[in-house]
Amino acid sequence: MTSLAPLVEVRDVHKRFPVGGGLFGRARAWVHAVDGVSLTIHQGETLGLVGESGCGKSTLGRLILRLLEPTAGEVLFDGRSLLALSARELRAMRREMQIVFQDPYGSLNPRMRVASIVGEGLAIHRLGTRRERRARVDELLALVGLPPDAADRYPHEFSGGQRQRIGIARALAVRPRFIVADEAVSALDVSIQAQILNLLHDLQRQLGLTLLFIAHDLRVVEHMSDRVAIMYLGRIVECGPREEIYRNPRHPYTRTLLSAVPVPDPRRRKQRMVLGGDLPSPVRPPPGCAFHPRCGHALDVCRRDIPPLETGRGGHAVACHVFPAERVSAADG
Ligand code: SF4
Repeated sequence: MTSLAPLVEVRDVHKRFPVGGGLFGRARAWVHAVDGVSLTIHQGETLGLVGESGCGKSTLGRLILRLLEPTAGEVLFDGRSLLALSARELRAMRREMQIVFQDPYGSLNPRMRVASIVGEGLAIHRLGTRRERRARVDELLALVGLPPDAADRYPHEFSGGQRQRIGIARALAVRPRFIVADEAVSALDVSIQAQILNLLHDLQRQLGLTLLFIAHDLRVVEHMSDRVAIMYLGRIVECGPREEIYRNPRHPYTRTLLSAVPVPDPRRRKQRMVLGGDLPSPVRPPPGCAFHPRCGHALDVCRRDIPPLETGRGGHAVACHVFPAERVSAADG
């Protein structure tokens, strides 16, 4: 059950990266990776963040953890602005926020034993004695479904799914309240993906975690998420409760992504919509609605004005001139 208190609040966050210009030269252009995103993640909920590769979703995850500094905007964690924290306060806050990376091969140091990898955060934050840390490592390995002897082995001795379990144990070691899972299952086979998704889902419930689950595939986040946000070229274009997004998608981009998701029930079979063209360059985003060059519904206004993200009935927010959020009627309260 999701409580309503916000844990993470993102307020009009922008991130631009310079392009070209050499080591000391002036940037020739800017990549608009995140372009005015605002969103809230409530305590104990899972927010699925979905979009094509290059849409800015991983950058947004890192901005929330303050692994990157925003160009503008603010991120609040538990009501405190992360940008206002001193280095010491930020270090302490880092215990509360962890990340699980996409690549279970590249994200684990091959020269460290699993006990050291999982226990590294405990050592950095000086939590417990050596013996207590080792006991915590054993507890974590059991929690993520790895055998006790895993502690003394090296990452290369494990399969992809097992390595991702090690990555999850590492993230959980310091008892965080918030985890960003950044494409945490994308590098795994489909059958292994389901195991890791179930594990994350169970842990989230069991430990009362708040989760930002980043993926490029709507199918992956459906099972996990309480709410889903769709990102396109640096902006959130649709956001709402999971049932709303999957049953009543409004934005043409969301509808196209959903039409590619296989449905097992033949009575619900949908017509597949094909997304034409590539994601436009974030260096020169199209004017107006950035989706207009790929949208079959575009009007003149779409080529001219950026549609604002407006929230309608049931907390369902949409940024589209043609298919706006459904209005809250007087009867809705
Ligand atoms: Fe398509 Fe216009 Fe809606 Fe953008 S604003 S998604 S171009 S209809």
